Amino acid sequence: MPALAKGIVVLDPGHGGFDPVGGSSPNNAVSFSGVLEKAMTLEMSKLIRAAIESSNQAGSADIQVMLTRDSDVNLGLSARATVAKSNAADILLSLHFNGFDKQVRGTETLVRPIADGTVNHADDRAFAQRIQKAVFETIKGFDAGANDRGVKDQNSAFSTTPFSATLRTTPSAVPACSRSSSSTLRRLTSC
Ligand SMILES: [Zn+2]
Repeated sequence: MPALAKGIVVLDPGHGGFDPVGGSSPNNAVSFSGVLEKAMTLEMSKLIRAAIESSNQAGSADIQVMLTRDSDVNLGLSARATVAKSNAADILLSLHFNGFDKQVRGTETLVRPIADGTVNHADDRAFAQRIQKAVFETIKGFDAGANDRGVKDQNSAFSTTPFSATLRTTPSAVPACSRSSSSTLRRLTSC
């Protein structure tokens, strides 16, 4: 029997609200069907939280899961990191959906470079590899043209604060059509 998954996870739905706050813009990308990135990050974070909670209820996990925001509000970057720090989180995962040039399709996961002062870079990279592989393989099943953009040591919005990884996926590649009853995600994928 596999070991029970345990830990404290903080999910960070990127952006939110209507004004820039502490380095966090209210929204960046907009999907083809008009859904805002800030709505997609919140929706996806809630879906992940629900999935973890159902694993807890099924007895296959014992994971405390929190969101940095639960509604359409913006938090500054350090405030987002503080949610993880003050809850002694094992993992802080920030979710984003990028727009790029409307040609790029795929997923990438960023981790803070060693040069930026991360103290657990190997752990962050290992976590990011698992996230990247799981998300990309799922997306590939829905979008054969999706690209594995890889795990990158790269400055991101969180470059000056502790974080585990930042996941960035293009809107065209969200694997939600047949799996989610979420109206936002259905609109997003035009299902
Ligand atoms: Zn973003």
